[in-house]
Amino acid sequence: MKMELNMKFEVGKLLYQGKAKDVYETDHPDQVMVKFRDDITAGDGQKKDTLGEKGRYNSIISAKLFQLLSSEGVNTQYLDLPEPSYMLCKKLDMIPLEVITRNIATGSLVRRFPFYEGQELDPPLIQMDFKNDEYHDPMLNDDIAIALGIVTQEDLDYIRKITLKINKILKNFLDSKGLLFPDFKIEYGRDQEGNIVLGDEISPDTCRFWDRETRDVLDKDLFRKGESGVIEAYRRVAEIILDEDDLKRWNLSWKKLTNNNM
Ligand code: 5GP
Repeated sequence: MKMELNMKFEVGKLLYQGKAKDVYETDHPDQVMVKFRDDITAGDGQKKDTLGEKGRYNSIISAKLFQLLSSEGVNTQYLDLPEPSYMLCKKLDMIPLEVITRNIATGSLVRRFPFYEGQELDPPLIQMDFKNDEYHDPMLNDDIAIALGIVTQEDLDYIRKITLKINKILKNFLDSKGLLFPDFKIEYGRDQEGNIVLGDEISPDTCRFWDRETRDVLDKDLFRKGESGVIEAYRRVAEIILDEDDLKRWNLSWKKLTNNNM
């Protein structure tokens, strides 16, 4: 059964529903349409809300960063952004690992270990958590990941290598835009040929972004801490990282992004 979500494209059945995204079948067996919803959650989904326009901002921020990474030779799921909130992606079989990279100590790292808030981490740290709500995403090591049958040692070596490359590309890019990049979480999946490909999203829901000058927090930590201005911060990240060419490429305007009745 086909559903017409809007004027421009149709999608097939709902394949998967996550906490903030829906994945739909398309006519192409190797492709899915990911809908970025406006739902926001924190603390294993205990804290929930809906923030108008969040899906739009996260989808365009992710599209921009996926495109940047693709242009630097990183294999990503991104294929197209037919309109804000909808991303056409390569279909992946997701690996249940949250691959977290840290350039500055903050968040759970300073809660769990004797690092001080704001401590520079050079070289950056890579931490892997088991993506599993029932077990509350526990941190794991290579032996545990391999014994769980999620990955092989070669997969882990590749994931670490490509994650460090991703960190370098994103950190340099964000630095050029006046943003600090304390840490981020990414997820990988396998494509039909078994290649490990970057999936999920790269957005203020999954990264920390700080204004270098003011140290303003521009990410989901605002929501986690119950502070105001969450959607304004997400919009600011989009405005900071997207340029005129990006807006043209995706036929976007800031007005369109804030108008729900397109
Ligand atoms: P922390 O471990 O300090 O809470 O998070 C480190 C980084 O990984 C942050 O950028 C955070 O957004 C991201 N992160 C870690 N776990 C999750 C998760 O389960 N969901 C999301 N959206 N981001 C996560």
